[in-house]
Amino acid sequence: MSEKLRVSRPERVVGVLSCPNANCITTENEPVESSFEVLSDGVRCGYCDTIVRDEIAALIDND
Ligand SMILES: [Zn+2]
Repeated sequence: MSEKLRVSRPERVVGVLSCPNANCITTENEPVESSFEVLSDGVRCGYCDTIVRDEIAALIDND
């Protein structure tokens, strides 16, 4: 089972969100899972430090 389901507020979400930065390594054809640090008011990409505060739901990768 996924551990993140047991944590009400994970500090990091991996492989769930897609980075909005087109130049981010996670959006290229690299076998890299996205990783976002959870902030108090948004999330920050662990690779390019792009901070997203709005429309986080729109970044969820439904693949
Ligand atoms: Zn990124």
